[in-house]
Amino acid sequence: MNTDHYITTSIPYVNAAPHIGHALEIVQADALARYYRLRSDRVVLQSGTDENAHKNVAAAEALGTSVQALVDENSDAYAKLIRALDVELDSFIRTTEERHASGVGTLWQAMRSDDLYRKSYEGLYCEGCEDFVSDRDLVDGVCPDHNTQPAIVREDNYFFRLSRYQDRLLELIESDELRVYPAQRKREILAFVGRGLQDISISRDSHRMSGWGITVPEDPTQVIYVWIDALINYLTGIGYGSSAAWRSVWSKSATKTHVIGKNVWKFHAIYWPAMLLSAGLPIPDRIMVHGFLTAEGKKISKSLGNVIDPRELAAQWDVDPLRFYLLTLSPFSDGDFSTGRLAECYKSQLSSRIGSTVTRVTALCERNGVEQVRDTAARLPTDEFHAHMERCQLDKAVQTLMSLLAGINSEVSEYRPWEHSHRTQETVNRVEKWATTLYTFAYWIQAFIPSTGSEICAQLERVPVRKSAPLFPPRPSPNSKARPQA
Ligand SMILES: [Zn+2]
Repeated sequence: MNTDHYITTSIPYVNAAPHIGHALEIVQADALARYYRLRSDRVVLQSGTDENAHKNVAAAEALGTSVQALVDENSDAYAKLIRALDVELDSFIRTTEERHASGVGTLWQAMRSDDLYRKSYEGLYCEGCEDFVSDRDLVDGVCPDHNTQPAIVREDNYFFRLSRYQDRLLELIESDELRVYPAQRKREILAFVGRGLQDISISRDSHRMSGWGITVPEDPTQVIYVWIDALINYLTGIGYGSSAAWRSVWSKSATKTHVIGKNVWKFHAIYWPAMLLSAGLPIPDRIMVHGFLTAEGKKISKSLGNVIDPRELAAQWDVDPLRFYLLTLSPFSDGDFSTGRLAECYKSQLSSRIGSTVTRVTALCERNGVEQVRDTAARLPTDEFHAHMERCQLDKAVQTLMSLLAGINSEVSEYRPWEHSHRTQETVNRVEKWATTLYTFAYWIQAFIPSTGSEICAQLERVPVRKSAPLFPPRPSPNSKARPQA
């Protein structure tokens, strides 16, 4: 049976423990995946860890540990974060797994043989990017992402004939056969490709990589460039190179979506589709490019000591408030994570809007003898909500759902049911309508805050419906060290 949706996150480097930015990307991907599952589509959601980077070797040396021990520990921390965030994951791949190495070799050999060639190369190399950089990438001679001056590296490498795919890539992205969200990134990518694509070096000298990485098939003197190896995780995680299962997932009929950060679109929207075209495989259908998070107004960095542990946040605030906060940030702009605003969001959105509407409507159901709310029509999303999800506008999709609650509340205030006798036909009809609308909200909000959504659905499906206890009771202030009451 073919998959309808294959959704992936990028795979983080594991030279350090995951931070709030990783939490953002995985919950965005999970919200998309859950949304399609709520539509009864067959969905595969995949994440994993990128472990073959040379910077892992450097990080392990600095810590005085082995590279394997370092990647094991940080990969495990990332897997634990995924569970703590209530993500419904189907597939997890570590690029140090044997099935990955074997699939990478298979794809290397599946690419057109005249797309791969060897030549001697000298270029500017940024250790932080683990990539050759060109003058146009630099600001005042330094890499803007790493603030370091790239070194001149000369070696003999394999190259991929990326230039051959320039016109085809322009066509695919322009025509939306490969959709990129937001539109601003699409324009940026088209402009980049339009300036001309050069062939890229896709292997490195094994010695320089301290032997860490995946060896080029039939050439032990070279390891595959870590970014090329990492991209192939989207295939190896579903079985490419180790089983036939991948064919039903990476198929033409499945919508294949990559959720990525704004710093890696060159790899996902240019290198990756070109590699797939070379190998005669389908290309991805959709790339969602999210912005970056700062923490309390500052760039997230270990040296600044402002790395917020998202697992601790999920434990302290419960997972749904954390997910709700992250998913209501504008997904395509840069955002800021602040515990003060998380507290504010908890109070004004979750407690005052969602919690109080649920209490209000369920109390009216109880008073008016509404038996059970289970209208299958309630499961139809509004066109607007659906359109936002297709365009990965997660914040706007949540706003559309929240406006259903605003609609209920204004109708209740206008009708003033407390001024009418209980259980009259008119009041019962109105309460049933409000309860059905609340059910629609609850059903679809499960994509974003799964436990809350399913809890509200369960309350409305109860016979008879009873007044709900507060879903989001008040919390101590964020500055208080005390653990909040459950
Ligand atoms: Zn760099």
